[in-house]
This record gives sequence, C-alpha cells and structure tokens, in this order.
Amino acid sequence: MSAPMSDINVDHLSAVRHVILVMSGKGGVGKSTVATQIALGLRHAGKKVGLLDVDLCGPSIPRMFNVHQQDIHQCSEGWLPVFVDKEQKLALMSIGFLVENEQDAIIWRGPKKTAMIKQFLKDVVWRDLDYLIIDTPPGTTDEHISAIENLKAYNPDGAILVTTPQAVSVGDVKREITFCRKTHIPVIGLIENMSGFVCPNCTECTNVFSKGGGQALAKEYHVPFLGCIPLDPELSKSCDEGKDFVEHYEGSPTLQAIQKVVDRLVK
Ligand code: ADP
Repeated sequence: MSAPMSDINVDHLSAVRHVILVMSGKGGVGKSTVATQIALGLRHAGKKVGLLDVDLCGPSIPRMFNVHQQDIHQCSEGWLPVFVDKEQKLALMSIGFLVENEQDAIIWRGPKKTAMIKQFLKDVVWRDLDYLIIDTPPGTTDEHISAIENLKAYNPDGAILVTTPQAVSVGDVKREITFCRKTHIPVIGLIENMSGFVCPNCTECTNVFSKGGGQALAKEYHVPFLGCIPLDPELSKSCDEGKDFVEHYEGSPTLQAIQKVVDRLVK
C-alpha cells in the first residue's frame, strides 16, 4: 500500500454536493448491503455517486460489486477511484483495493486508522459528485470520529442508521443516535433491514422476527423512519455475486422498499 503522490493541493470534497454516512450499532445487520443499494439506487436515478468504504478492518464494498482484483491508480491529483459502470458515474474506494489480499486482517491502532481515513477523504479524486455515500464500521469507532472531523467543514447531510428488528440491535442503535447528537451529525433516518422474509418462490413477505422495533425507536427518539427492507435471499445472492439488484429484480417487494428509501434521499 503506498501513499498517493498528490502534487496539487486540490480540495476534492468541495465538488461533492451531498455526503451521507451509513452507520449501524453492530455488524451483520446489512449496513454495507444498504449502503450499496442506496448507491445503486441513486445511480439509477441519474445521479453521480461515490461509495467510500471506511470499514478498514472488514471492507466489503469490493465484494458487493465483484471488483476484488482492481488496483488503485494514482494521478498527479491523488487516488483515482474504481468506476463500476461504463458511464463512469458510480465510483468506489475501499482499503480492500489497497491491500495485497482483501482477506488479510488489518491490525492498526487508532492513529494509523485516523490517518488513512483522512487520506481517503482528502486524496480521492471523486471529481464532480452528487452523492458521496460512506460505509462505516459497526459501532462508534476511531474511523467514525476521524471521518466526522474531516467532513465537518463540508456540512455532511447526516447519517442513515441501519438496524434489524431484533431488540439487541435496536438497543445498539440508541447509542448511534446519541453519538450523532454529540458529534452534531444530523440523523437522516433509520432503516429496519431484514424485516420480514420474502419467499423466493411466491415473493410473499412473512414476519419471521418481530417487526416494527425500528419504527418505534425512530418515534421514541424523534428521528425519521426511512422504511423496512425485507430479508430476501435474492438480495443476499446478488450482493455475493456482485450483481446490480436494482437492475435485475424490477418489481420485487425488496426493490420497492429500497426505492422508497432512495426516493426520500433524491434532491
Ligand atoms: P454489515 O455491513 O452490517 O456487517 P452486510 O451488509 O455485510 O452487513 O450483510 C451481512 C450479510 O447479510 C450479507 O451476507 C448480506 O448479503 C446479508 N444481507 C444483508 N441485508 C440483507 C437482506 N435484506 N436480505 C438478505 N440478506 C441480507
């Protein structure tokens, strides 16, 4: 992994119109899946989108787009992101592109993580973007603090919080809300993921876990509720295969749920 050799001091974030962080209290609730689907949905809505993966210890964005083996190139202005569409309107950046083996564990102390996030936010040549979606690690970590500190001057739109219907995850989201309030990051809203199960045969949606915890929590904490995304094996499969769910599953209840979230974000 080598540092970019930017010889021109360009403020790459000044050409980004909206910055949205995607957060969750714990891992495995579908935060990266939601970040990916939001990025794809915004791209399909005609927006220019960047997706930055700051989950340094567990980057999953290269896998979600099936672009594992991509190398990051440098230009005089900094790091060039990986474009995943031929129109070059959806760009990705992740530590997964910078390490030799994506599965290698990254064991870094706080200052090194902080420096890496700063570099991601300073040196990636996004050019003109409508939206920069930032996929963060679970919890409230050095990565969050560093990202928020480096973004302050750009007035980020805020954070989307992802939870599952189970109470334990919902409990963790309370901490995320408190963190956002303490760091003055607006909460754009809460998404309840894996909410109900979509049968792969008949696409009927049944509630396997209790549903509605996310909505109740949003009400209690006075944050907007952005909607429920069902547990859908097709969504999981398309993420594993790096397929564009938005393109392949037109009309599915899961896609309708994702599109509802995206519609609320489009400006
Ligand atoms: P996190 O980023 O919170 O750790 P991921 O987005 O990596 O979680 O998702 C964890 C696993 O759950 C992945 O295998 C993903 O495909 C699956 N998953 C996430 N959301 C859904 C969903 N709504 N339906 C089905 N599978 C999902």
